[in-house]
Amino acid sequence: MLSRKERNKRATKLTRSAVKRYGELKNRKARPALNQLILSVLYHLASVRRATRALSELKRAFVDWNEVRVSHPAEVAAAVSSAPWALEAADRVVWLLKEVYELYNRTDLSFLSDLTPTQARSCLESLPMVPRHLADEVLLLSLGVPVLPCSAASARMCYRLGLLENRRPTLKNKRLLESTFDEEYYPALHLFFCDYADKLCTTDEPLCRECPLKRNCQGAK
Ligand code: SF4
Repeated sequence: MLSRKERNKRATKLTRSAVKRYGELKNRKARPALNQLILSVLYHLASVRRATRALSELKRAFVDWNEVRVSHPAEVAAAVSSAPWALEAADRVVWLLKEVYELYNRTDLSFLSDLTPTQARSCLESLPMVPRHLADEVLLLSLGVPVLPCSAASARMCYRLGLLENRRPTLKNKRLLESTFDEEYYPALHLFFCDYADKLCTTDEPLCRECPLKRNCQGAK
């Protein structure tokens, strides 16, 4: 178990790395909830920058999300990229839009902003494709709720950094991470986790050489 001083030092280093890469994101314009949900799906398949570009490409290529919903995934993928991740992304996006339509009879989640955070999370989690951490991403990045999403990848990275005692994405670990970091930096931290925890700090072979945290990481190889 790390001393409090060492814990704070590592949390500060992580926050600085996140802010250096993504900025403080204080004045960012929040996206509509459905756009953010789709973007969050893309974040876990491609880099944050590439995912953001893919969202713009989809919006340019289709009239609206309903047109994406009724399109073949191969057509949706072709609008984004010829890379293999694009087909998986298109599959998930089309499937997600079908779930939204089936549950709410529309391809729009703007009603979430009229609900309490708990109600909005519950609506999002009613969609079979949306686990808790994805719902929390929408709460944080679209609805401005101060929550720090805790995915399996971010819990694993924080465990390797010594900030958690185990690598499980439990509610207890999520709350511990929320109390470790300053909430004004949650958006930048979350994007950092999407890029580095998902893609570098992998289960079997973490790519520590490319990780900006390697000097402060007890799990670095
Ligand atoms: S140094 Fe390696 S183990 Fe540590 S956080 Fe980075 S990728 Fe993960």
